[in-house]
Amino acid sequence: MLFFVGKKAILPRMFPDIPSMFPGGSSFPDATPSRPSTSLGASEIAQLQIKVERLLMITEALWTILKEKNGLEDKELLRQIVQIDLRDGKLDGRVATTPPEPCPKCQRIVAKNSVKCMYCGEPLLMDPFAR
Ligand SMILES: [Zn+2]
Repeated sequence: MLFFVGKKAILPRMFPDIPSMFPGGSSFPDATPSRPSTSLGASEIAQLQIKVERLLMITEALWTILKEKNGLEDKELLRQIVQIDLRDGKLDGRVATTPPEPCPKCQRIVAKNSVKCMYCGEPLLMDPFAR
């Protein structure tokens, strides 16, 4: 998970050495998302930018608390970010989407973020970071 507002990388403020972690050296991978099926208006984009900036502030605050209370270092966060990024085998600044998984009771594939199995009613544990 790397943080971008538009194409501006936010993480280098906290971790100026992260560009060297990407293949090819000093530039970040293109963080432009694939074209959505519907277009957003300028005000919707502005609202999303505000929300992203707020989430970045919250994330930075949480990380600062974790560092101060637990003696963690930025390099540990960087290592974890790279591990998450590499789950799909590509260091590209993006997190791969997770495929739908089977119900633990009936083994049928259920829609992501379902609260319960649509076939057998089994309550499902949600992955708060599933995409
Ligand atoms: Zn089921």
